[in-house]
Amino acid sequence: MHVLITAGPTHEPLDPVRFLGNRSSGKMGYALAAAALARGDTVTLISGPVCLTPPPGLSKFVRVTTSDEMFEAVHAHLEHIDLAILCAAVADFKPAQFAPQKIKKSGRATLTLELVSTRDILASLAPLKKNFRVIGFAAETNDVSAHAREKLSRKGCDAIVLNDVSRMDAGFASDNNEVTVLFREGDEVSFTNAPKTQIATQLLALLVARYKM
Ligand code: C5P
Repeated sequence: MHVLITAGPTHEPLDPVRFLGNRSSGKMGYALAAAALARGDTVTLISGPVCLTPPPGLSKFVRVTTSDEMFEAVHAHLEHIDLAILCAAVADFKPAQFAPQKIKKSGRATLTLELVSTRDILASLAPLKKNFRVIGFAAETNDVSAHAREKLSRKGCDAIVLNDVSRMDAGFASDNNEVTVLFREGDEVSFTNAPKTQIATQLLALLVARYKM
């Protein structure tokens, strides 16, 4: 099986020294890549800026910084894939303008930033996924199940992996995770709190069995 995985945050530059980012560590995506390699899969890992070493044996490793770079990298690596797992915490907004010189604080009491929507990589795959399955992730803090179901249907993916990031013992930056997989057919599978490496192995096994890959 050939799997494409995105991992980590994106950084959206404001000026030469500043960016908008998020707290994603990339651990879940890197664990998925390692679990897929352990199964003997061919793995393409597209990673935002993280402090992790890529697992040995990747077919392709593409390091990106911005959501636009991640969008282009994903679309450039769709050929021959059977499964795309979009685990990255892609920025939803980016600065409307990049200031080519460092923004000065002199004389300002406030600073208003104008942001524009980024392109949604997950949603962009729905019309293309004739020969492969697409799995998204949803990090939610409230009404988690309802928000994830809405996302699943709006983005047109096959399943969405929901994690509750309001918890301290799972999710962002933690070594552990507790997830529920919501399938577009309506059924759900939950995994109890466990190391991300274990969740990754279980998740891949579930998807392989489900889609007979
Ligand atoms: O809408 P939200 O960001 O919560 O959706 C999360 C899911 O969508 C993740 O799978 C993430 O990788 C994907 N996503 C994306 N491109 C964006 C925003 C989110 O692929 N611009």
